[in-house]
Amino acid sequence: MLRIKCPYCGTREHTEFTYGEDAKRILPDTDASLDVWNTYVFARHNVAGEHLEYWQHTLGCRAWLKVQRNTLTHTISWIGLPQDTPPQPEEECS
Ligand SMILES: [Zn+2]
Repeated sequence: MLRIKCPYCGTREHTEFTYGEDAKRILPDTDASLDVWNTYVFARHNVAGEHLEYWQHTLGCRAWLKVQRNTLTHTISWIGLPQDTPPQPEEECS
């Protein structure tokens, strides 16, 4: 079972949370073309690996969280608030 650590409530079962959406998607401008809006609303990337997502603690404090989760293993590597940015992997020196 997936367990998510809410920064306010602590670690809880995922059934207390609701998936929001891909946290990397950017809302188009209001005057964008119909094709751009169609793609934004209906097209999804099916990521296999690390994925940055919005989740809401709907049965708890109702806060929105940003969660970095591996879609293959369901391992959560980072949780923050929506305005936070996950740490970037360090670049290797050559
Ligand atoms: Zn909470």
